[in-house]
Amino acid sequence: MSFESAVEVIRRPRRRSLCIQVKPDNSVVVLAPRFVSKGAIDRFVTTKIDWIRSHQSRNKDSIQNPIVWASGGEVPYLGQSYKLIESQGDEACFRVSNGSLVIPDLEGQALQKKVMNWMRNCATDVITDRVEWYAAQMGLQPKEIKFRKMKSRWGSCSSRGTVSFNWIMLQAPLEVVDYVVVHELAHLKEMNHSKRFWDIVEVYSPNWKVHRQWLRRNQRWLMRLIEVG
Ligand SMILES: [Zn+2]
Repeated sequence: MSFESAVEVIRRPRRRSLCIQVKPDNSVVVLAPRFVSKGAIDRFVTTKIDWIRSHQSRNKDSIQNPIVWASGGEVPYLGQSYKLIESQGDEACFRVSNGSLVIPDLEGQALQKKVMNWMRNCATDVITDRVEWYAAQMGLQPKEIKFRKMKSRWGSCSSRGTVSFNWIMLQAPLEVVDYVVVHELAHLKEMNHSKRFWDIVEVYSPNWKVHRQWLRRNQRWLMRLIEVG
């Protein structure tokens, strides 16, 4: 592939370093400070070729392997894969059992909707718990906790003290969920991404860099849950 044509360069006057991103559609974007030369950007991209390729193939995997919304399909939940298994009785039940999700006699979008509702409810319980625990540790108290479905972010914090979470992240391992919780709570103290902000995050989520990276890498994969099949 020729990076000459495939890379979009966006100049950001306030940036101090080069940063590269692979978008869900596999396009490559470089965020660059205003005065970095084209040659320097090309050299930077060249050193990142392996990284770009691995991200692109991961995106492709997610696109080619959507969740199968039928008995036998698999859905991630808190970092584990749960197999969808149709209930044997005629109970219209929906429950977790031995690493699988017992589902009613549904498939396609009807099943997807059911699983999404289930995940959203679980998220309300699990994330509320984690928020309460970390809020006590951090000596902070959000005014309100909200849950939403978002395509481009995992959480947010308003100046009025409302923390919002993207319940889709409940597919991720709990330590990743915890990182997002800590991140948003830390915004109650520091409404920015300054060093002071990251210092707070680091106390309660020492491996935050790994978790942040995990979310970036798996964003496309996590979004399979809400993609219309
Ligand atoms: Zn933030």
